[in-house]
Amino acid sequence: MDHLILGIDVDGVVADFVDAYRYLCQHLVGKPLPERPACWDFPQAAGYTEAEVERVWAYIHANPEWWDTLRPLAGPLVWPGADVYYITARPRVPRTLSITESWVRRCVDPKARVLLAPDKGAAAKALRLTHYIDDRPENLLAVRKASKDTLVTLRRQPWNEGSPLFKDKAVAGLVGWPPPVVAEEE
Ligand SMILES: [Mg+2]
Repeated sequence: MDHLILGIDVDGVVADFVDAYRYLCQHLVGKPLPERPACWDFPQAAGYTEAEVERVWAYIHANPEWWDTLRPLAGPLVWPGADVYYITARPRVPRTLSITESWVRRCVDPKARVLLAPDKGAAAKALRLTHYIDDRPENLLAVRKASKDTLVTLRRQPWNEGSPLFKDKAVAGLVGWPPPVVAEEE
């Protein structure tokens, strides 16, 4: 295959956002949440009000170092010969990018470049990605629309299993992700 230019979503693909967010919601608001959330807005589905969810996000915005506490879901990974971008829609709050980049380098991929880009389709087009992986079906649709040569892959998670987008096969052409090389332990 030609030169690989990989785009990798961060939360739900290489970072365990859901578990840390679940814990934070319970800590700040106090209402119990399921251990394996089966939908995107799981706090709201469990009875959290919008004001309570906003309170949690206000905490995250005020404490961007919270992002440094997430557990990795993959790695350590190396991608010989490929250009790799970790692309996240985390909030554009000061220090979030630098904290995220140092976390990805420490926990997942020592050579990572991280971009903050809520529009994954525009990012895929601008970077001419050959492959993109995400856990959010809508992001895969946006990439396919904006950048038709980019091959997209869903990182399956409990919260996207039930997506009607996948039941209807609306995301056609899901492909295998190029196999990563897992770095040898020192
Ligand atoms: Mg994600």
